[in-house]
Amino acid sequence: MIEEIKKSALNNKVPIMKDEGIEFLISFIKENKIKDILEIGTAVGYSAIRMASVSKDIKVTSIERDQERYLEAVKNIKQAKLEDRVDLIFNDALNVKLNSKFDLIFIDAAKGKNIEFFENFEKNLKSGGYIITDNLKFHGYVDMNLEDIESRNIRGLVRKIRKYVEFLKENKKYQTEFLELGDGISVSKLKD
Ligand code: SAM
Repeated sequence: MIEEIKKSALNNKVPIMKDEGIEFLISFIKENKIKDILEIGTAVGYSAIRMASVSKDIKVTSIERDQERYLEAVKNIKQAKLEDRVDLIFNDALNVKLNSKFDLIFIDAAKGKNIEFFENFEKNLKSGGYIITDNLKFHGYVDMNLEDIESRNIRGLVRKIRKYVEFLKENKKYQTEFLELGDGISVSKLKD
């Protein structure tokens, strides 16, 4: 079933996590005994289902602002029989205020807004918890010279992703590791 969701997402050009990235995330959840996860950017629920399937005591809250994708995710979560453990929120994540605390916040939404997502939700992170962000390489563009990137939009995104990387490096409340996996992943641990 999960393979069908993945295939359908790829056929419909819905961006989902790359294999290497999702395999890392799953091992990370297992190794660190992560139980409560907040995901920013559900798309059609592929990564939410993969994360919730790691163990029966995992709960995922995931936020999506695109209605068509959100509805597809609702359908997929139901089909995976995970409605009790995957809570989907249809809204712009920057308008969402939550009270619960999470072991892991996974940021995988608009790539130019990582700092805003980080700042909106870090109060929801448990002490010693992690914030993981995907696509820090943005399909290789982040490592290119800006002059060699034709698209103005992509140049803008690259500037914002680089700014986010600097933000993480300078943020002394967190210890951040940058991994060359998938499309580039950061793991920021909130210091105790
Ligand atoms: N995590 C998903 C997976 O691997 O299966 C893929 C998520 S996809 C890369 C990013 C999603 O974030 C898109 O579906 C997009 O509509 C959503 N998104 C972008 N900005 C958002 C925002 N401000 N609030 C909520 N969702 C947002």
